[in-house]
Amino acid sequence: MNSIFDAAGLTVFERGWLSSNNVLFDGGERHESVLIDSGYWTHAAQTVALVRRALGSRRLDRVVNTHLHSDHCGGNHALQVAFKCAIDVPAGEIDKVDRWDESLLTYRDTGQHCPRFARTGAVSVGDQMLCGAWLWEVVGSPGHDPESIVLYQPELRVLISADALWENGFGVVFPELDGMRAFQDVRDTLNRLGQLQVDWVIPGHGKPFQGLGGALERAHSRLDGFIADPARHARHAAKVLVKFQPKNVSYPVGVGPTSTGKGGPTPTIRSQM
Ligand SMILES: [Zn+2]
Repeated sequence: MNSIFDAAGLTVFERGWLSSNNVLFDGGERHESVLIDSGYWTHAAQTVALVRRALGSRRLDRVVNTHLHSDHCGGNHALQVAFKCAIDVPAGEIDKVDRWDESLLTYRDTGQHCPRFARTGAVSVGDQMLCGAWLWEVVGSPGHDPESIVLYQPELRVLISADALWENGFGVVFPELDGMRAFQDVRDTLNRLGQLQVDWVIPGHGKPFQGLGGALERAHSRLDGFIADPARHARHAAKVLVKFQPKNVSYPVGVGPTSTGKGGPTPTIRSQM
């Protein structure tokens, strides 16, 4: 039992490859229910079922995406159909989503698929967002994705870090693959996260963990390696992208959520976006 997650009113659905984790705030009696990220589209039916089971007779009011890689927003469409929920995306993605520009959304180049959804709102860096009974700060985290945000709750000292920081590393630095300099953005983001007071990190993939300092050290060291040898990053990215192609993916049977606050199996994810 994770009493901090209980106090936050959140449940982590730790998902199988390729889906990102989902964080559900049920909202209790007085607040709206909010889901952070919705997994990959192939798991969308399961995502809807998980949310429905967790909320019981209540409906899901809102989805918020940390960024728009399809392993984080692939369930948006199905959730919107099922619950008629609002969907907030990072402010920098508004135009791309509204026009559904699959090139700018990077789905075309990466061979990803994401069912089209309608955004109803946006979240901006510096916003405070009510998730359950607590205000969460929207923190910019460019690097892995230029528009990505992470969410931080200072009183509970919890960070929802998406793909900006994992227990061991961070997501592929996609802008670098397009010839844009982004390693420094990763560095700046890691330094920004290092200034937060954090007891628990809920990453975009893998189980929640403690020890922000150690994770940051490992991330900085990985980044040092990529900066010293950018070809190594490119090779790593190529491997991840090959694994991301649906034809090469075998979906683990029975991979479902675990309320990681109550203890669950280790994730089956071998490599992530
Ligand atoms: Zn991502």
